[in-house]
Amino acid sequence: MAIKDDVGRRTEGAGWSMSMSGKVLRGRVEGPVLEPGDAGYDEARSVWNAMIDRRPRFVVRCTSADDVAAAVRFAVEHELEVGIRCGGHGIVGHAVPDGGLMLDLRPMGAVRVDVAARRALVQGGALLGALDRATQEHGLATTAGNVSHTGVGGLALGGGMGWLARRYGLTCDNVVSFQLVTAEGEILHVDADSHPDLYWALRGGGGNFGVVTEFEFALHPEPGTALSVEFLFPSASAADAMRIWRDASLTADRRATWNATVVERTVSLGFVWVGDPVEGVVQAGELGARLAEAREPAERMVAPLSYLQLQAREDDVEGHALRRYWKGHYFRELRDAAIDALLARDGDRLPNVSLQAYGGAIADVADDDTAFSRRDAAFEFVAAARWDDPAEDAVRMESARGYARTMDPFASGAYVNVLGDDGVAGLRRAYTDEKLARLRSVKDAHDPGNVFHLNQNIAPTRT
Ligand code: FAD
Repeated sequence: MAIKDDVGRRTEGAGWSMSMSGKVLRGRVEGPVLEPGDAGYDEARSVWNAMIDRRPRFVVRCTSADDVAAAVRFAVEHELEVGIRCGGHGIVGHAVPDGGLMLDLRPMGAVRVDVAARRALVQGGALLGALDRATQEHGLATTAGNVSHTGVGGLALGGGMGWLARRYGLTCDNVVSFQLVTAEGEILHVDADSHPDLYWALRGGGGNFGVVTEFEFALHPEPGTALSVEFLFPSASAADAMRIWRDASLTADRRATWNATVVERTVSLGFVWVGDPVEGVVQAGELGARLAEAREPAERMVAPLSYLQLQAREDDVEGHALRRYWKGHYFRELRDAAIDALLARDGDRLPNVSLQAYGGAIADVADDDTAFSRRDAAFEFVAAARWDDPAEDAVRMESARGYARTMDPFASGAYVNVLGDDGVAGLRRAYTDEKLARLRSVKDAHDPGNVFHLNQNIAPTRT
């Protein structure tokens, strides 16, 4: 007899339906299994973007690669959609499957550092803060993003841009090996020699190829001092200064990452320096003097801080529980007309804007070496809206879209980790056609049934 189970899927009989019970799943994994109504269920399904409100049928709080493998097999048997949650900062909330099975990797958040080998073994559910703290204890670091409550998982698999990237490459460039649970529930060690196709695809191809239960990162000596340099201008009169700032970026030291923000009608132009702050202060003085040739800044802010402080300084402003909408672009160059468009802050409830410079070690890596693409970007642009009243959803999103649209003519692609639900059009912005074809062949080989499709999906040939 065909019946409907309680997520509305057609099943072939009562026995099949019974086997999809939480009891059966609990018998297969060590970690807790949460269902709607259970304590902790609502916390587990809540992610960084408060716009996401979905209800998985099961949440498995995985404690090991074996748990992940067993849960993936269970999901495949019962045709449940699989969502993978690490830090829960994916902008469109792919981690949370409505009616499906969510792998909550957060219990797997440990970081072990091998000081002699300069390696970190990082579990697939770890947050950036855990990685930075564990490595800095030994005067070491690897590239991580700018907000410490972001997950290593999603960030590293999509690329991973941070203040050390111009020196040491993106986060994905620093991955030496992965432990991966495949769509068949197999546990693989993936590195340049074993499974080179997966090793290539996992560095920039996102969560398409399996569940990473451990990353092995290369570490670099990093004594842990930094400097934040900001010169503030009213946006209406910042264009000349911004052109000088852009020109100066072309010869910037690799320890400096040029960055700019626009909040309301104030522009901050400057850079983040990781290294000896005394040298950074000299560079700040030089930039300040050049900018002042165009216009005296309204304010100069040069602040030394530790690397760990730097890595957490945006944690509060980028906190949880707000509604969010992002649009991103890469710019191969920042043309004068792009600066003018960026500074034209007409309209209401405009998104905040950030620009962060690429180049340096990011561009040293050959484009073919990793799935990550668009290494020729000079700047990454993000228009980020945040608000708390659901009644403002439409106007906030349209305002961010409209603003980003005015920047479209200058764009050379987009970072896969800031794409929205743009489907194939989004993928084409993130990857070249050749990369997409190669990613698809890896998908065909390792996940032909598209078990891992809640992501910026590389669809296999058969679906
Ligand atoms: P999750 O929502 O947990 O995961 C997102 C997706 O990644 C999942 O749906 C899954 O497909 C995949 N995934 C996650 N973990 C695994 C795993 N272990 N195995 C397989 N697949 C997995 N990006 C930067 O490069 N640099 C930054 O400085 C930066 N700052 C950010 C700051 C904030 C506040 C936010 C919200 C985002 C930022 N991003 C940054 C973008 C960030 O890289 C993405 O949002 C990323 O997806 C977050 O990863 P997560 O693990 O927290 O998210």
